[in-house]
Amino acid sequence: MGKKQFKAESKKLLDLMINSIYTQKEIFLRELISNSSDAVDKIYYKALTDKSLNFDKDNYYIKITPDKKNRTLTISDTGIGMTKEELEENLGIIARSGSLAFKKENELKDGFDIIGQFGVGFYSAFMVADCVTVISKALGSEEGYKWESEGADGYTIEPYQKETPGTDIILKIKENTEDEHYDEFLEEYTLRSIIKKYSDFIRYPIKMLVTNQKLKEGSEDEYEDYTEYEVINSMVPIWKKNKNELTTEDYEKFYSEKHFGFSKPLKSIHVSVDGAVSFNSILYIPSKTPYDFYTKEYEKGLELYSSGVLIMNKCADLLPDYFSFVQGLVDSEDLSLNISREMLQHDRQLKLIAKKIKDKIKSELLLMIKNERDKYEEFYKNFGRQLKYGIYSDFGANREDLQDLLMFYSSKQNKMITLDEYVNSMAKDQKYIYYACGESNEKISKLPQTELVSEKGFEILYFTEDIDEFAIRMLMNYKDKEFKSVSSGDLGIEPEEQNIDNEEKEENKEIFKFMNESLSGKVKDVRASKRLKNHPVCLSSDGELSIEMEKILNDMPNNPNIKADKILELNINHEVFSALKDAFEHDKDKLKMYTNLLYNQALLIEGLSIEDPLEFTKDICKLMK
Ligand code: ADP
Repeated sequence: MGKKQFKAESKKLLDLMINSIYTQKEIFLRELISNSSDAVDKIYYKALTDKSLNFDKDNYYIKITPDKKNRTLTISDTGIGMTKEELEENLGIIARSGSLAFKKENELKDGFDIIGQFGVGFYSAFMVADCVTVISKALGSEEGYKWESEGADGYTIEPYQKETPGTDIILKIKENTEDEHYDEFLEEYTLRSIIKKYSDFIRYPIKMLVTNQKLKEGSEDEYEDYTEYEVINSMVPIWKKNKNELTTEDYEKFYSEKHFGFSKPLKSIHVSVDGAVSFNSILYIPSKTPYDFYTKEYEKGLELYSSGVLIMNKCADLLPDYFSFVQGLVDSEDLSLNISREMLQHDRQLKLIAKKIKDKIKSELLLMIKNERDKYEEFYKNFGRQLKYGIYSDFGANREDLQDLLMFYSSKQNKMITLDEYVNSMAKDQKYIYYACGESNEKISKLPQTELVSEKGFEILYFTEDIDEFAIRMLMNYKDKEFKSVSSGDLGIEPEEQNIDNEEKEENKEIFKFMNESLSGKVKDVRASKRLKNHPVCLSSDGELSIEMEKILNDMPNNPNIKADKILELNINHEVFSALKDAFEHDKDKLKMYTNLLYNQALLIEGLSIEDPLEFTKDICKLMK
């Protein structure tokens, strides 16, 4: 009997298979086991309604038999089997399920990836075998058939005696090459770990022939080898179990088994959704920040399963960036096993799942704020920054999702509070949500700019992280209350113009003008301050960019050298101001020096560096003499 030819596409795919890189080869077993599982599914459901099939759970299994001597690996199932026509139809053409559009050349170029991530079914057998034999007998058929192929040059098919329905796939494992050790696919240890990794939750037992030892008969210390079939997979995945049957320990154990993190998770979330899309998911919030979390190396994503079979290790599309710290997995019956990455990205089901997952994480975090405050604060210490980045990025598109998860230190309550808590405790006559920026809570609490707001009895949120002010600017307001920096031009609470006569005002104007000129462009203006109470001087900013933002932007690698519009504010009720007046009248050089000193002081208070520290110290020494 002559060889029959594969269809053209199959040839291309076979080439790809054979040339794919080694680490991806192991997925052949996942693919064959999944096919077997599907075949058993089919007969299992038939048996549920057809009494003549003699329903017995023990009849449904998948067997893996490695044979080192003959270099074969056999995958057998008690499934529905294939008729001669089906063997030709199913194994003669690839991608029958239509999920892989291999037609376009450019997609072929990406082929390696597709194989690694999604597999391509039966044909993956040729990655590890140079001859594949399929012996199958269809349910209800009198005859069995043997299909055989050595790859690209076609296949043969002939009748074959087989007792029971089902399929045996016999792989003649390739000889080792210099860099590929095909032998591994005959090793118990390797096979066991591949099955565990990809097929642990196949719902039928996967029995593998293993070698064990027992005492020789009649002997007390001599052992002999014997072989038996051992069930390798755990079958029912934890995420398919009922939540009520599971304990915190169960989730923690699974977390560590999966190597999601080293320490216990801070929170486990178990989601089961039925509806437009059905899926089960277990999500974890880690208790520690992964060491590479805030680097480019960190890869977000959840494990993705299709009916218990792993199809992707890190599916990034399931998580928004701002929740990238979440670990876990999703299993859905609505996703096809053979789906390419591009298709997955546009998959409607996947988008629905991602949306539900996002909403669930958010609602769990909100619950944590309400019921487990300490836990939330711990979480926020680790990942709050990520939430703020989330608000800042995408032009604030995610603000609605994230604003209620924010927390800042409160000047009045001396603890972290949410924006909601701030707004709820605002005074009647308070228009704005006030904040102040600085390196630490301690330093911020001493900023002169906070004086007026604090005196009014208003609460101030302390921003100590680079991202804080940027995120808040993106937010603009919360519950219709605008954010306001204590250093901004107009605080909305300035006291009435002080009772000073016009003549004095004019004189002050002259002094400010002189000072401004002597600072030659370093500040935009010199003004009488309305916010200072006890301090003589401070800086504020006018316009979009705050001084804090200037600092952060200029710390960036490609320093854009952006300047905030700085205003030097003077407390005209302070003794120092009388000294300035005096100098203005009698000694302009002295006023110049005072101006520099005050300006530099204001810079220091802001945490900015002064341009000429030497001149600054010299001036101070002059004063001391
Ligand atoms: P897919 O599984 O994506 O359809 P495959 O190339 O893996 O693509 O398999 C092609 C078809 O061959 C399957 O859809 C199924 O009908 C049939 N098949 C493969 N393996 C078996 C098996 N062990 N038992 C019964 N039918 C099988």
